[in-house]
Amino acid sequence: MRIYFDYNATTPLAPEVTEAVMAASRDLFGNASSVHYFGQQAKAAMDSARSALAALIGADPPEVVFTGGGTESDNFAIRGAAEALEPQKRRHLIASAIEHEAVLNTFKALARRGWRTTLLPLDQSGIVSPDRLREAMTDDTALVSVMHANNEIGTIQPVAALAAIAHEHGALMHTDAVQSVGKISVDVRALGVDLLSLSAHKFNGPKGAGALWIKRGTRLQPYQTGGKHERSRRAGTENVPALAGMGVAASLAVAKMTREAERVGALRDRLEEGVLRSVAGTAVNGERGQRVPNTTNISFDRVEAESLLIALDLEGIAVSTGSACSSGTLEPSHVLRAMGLPTHRTQNSLRFSLGLFSTEEEVDRVIDVLPRLVEKLRGLTRKPQPLGEHLAK
Ligand code: PLP
Repeated sequence: MRIYFDYNATTPLAPEVTEAVMAASRDLFGNASSVHYFGQQAKAAMDSARSALAALIGADPPEVVFTGGGTESDNFAIRGAAEALEPQKRRHLIASAIEHEAVLNTFKALARRGWRTTLLPLDQSGIVSPDRLREAMTDDTALVSVMHANNEIGTIQPVAALAAIAHEHGALMHTDAVQSVGKISVDVRALGVDLLSLSAHKFNGPKGAGALWIKRGTRLQPYQTGGKHERSRRAGTENVPALAGMGVAASLAVAKMTREAERVGALRDRLEEGVLRSVAGTAVNGERGQRVPNTTNISFDRVEAESLLIALDLEGIAVSTGSACSSGTLEPSHVLRAMGLPTHRTQNSLRFSLGLFSTEEEVDRVIDVLPRLVEKLRGLTRKPQPLGEHLAK
């Protein structure tokens, strides 16, 4: 039995999506910009995908610009807004410290080009405080970018409140909703944002397809130049099969969201409670009451997360750690570090993220296997006691 609990990294395709991608690859090979029959067939598939995606996020179809995924959408939103607002002498950007690298490294790149950037600090709840944003805003803030749901701990940010503050100061508001779209209700108007990023492969759609929602009237400088695709906002021949697949994934999400959120939420809670009960020295990271339903991030005292991840993989269970192992040293998770968790906790935490094909049987297997693995790893890392002390016991 192989268990996949890493849905926040990527998701398997829904069977209906596989069908749609295969059919479009076979039948819709025309270039969507061509005026002939073949081109128009491809364009019709894209139009229908755009409408399905718009319905998923409460948008108008013309506001949806297709991209190659979440990273591209984040880059487009931030670089495009920054460049469009430069003539207004707005040279300041704000994001939260727990954003995805797609946002954080785009900020770094713009900082190298003279932009001032501020990263909002957080507390152990893993939720951005509107007060921190209010303190950070200045008259030359061009853009605020705060993710809707965090990829490592799943916390949902108060995006509507943050957007209101950004707008009070004349700044644009972007949210990276890559980890919330398809899992919980996302409505661009209710969130009050100007720009929203999403990615198909996080909600059972294909990889390499995503979108940036751009509120009507928002000026963005396209950063990829070329033809007039996507109303001159994103040049390049469109990946019609992937976009058709994303459209089907969006329709499935609309149809199943409430039911699936409840089902997956119950599985996540069962897993979380089971682990906390059966393994001593465990704690959940981040505010449990304000999370996407599929994610839990748990720290295991005196266990190196990477070792536990490998031990679980050997048992056929795939999970993830926010820590990156680079050149043999374990980089602590930037999210947990930004939340002010002690160093050991930033290195001993695992993320379990569930989804479409997750079952109760899988959850129970993980709860069954974990105590033994944790015990074994703790035994290996236990410091040898001085001989005298050992004999005295
Ligand atoms: N933003 C968040 C919050 C993510 O979790 C991810 C993917 O892990 C991305 C952006 C990047 O999306 P993509 O893989 O589609 O480029």
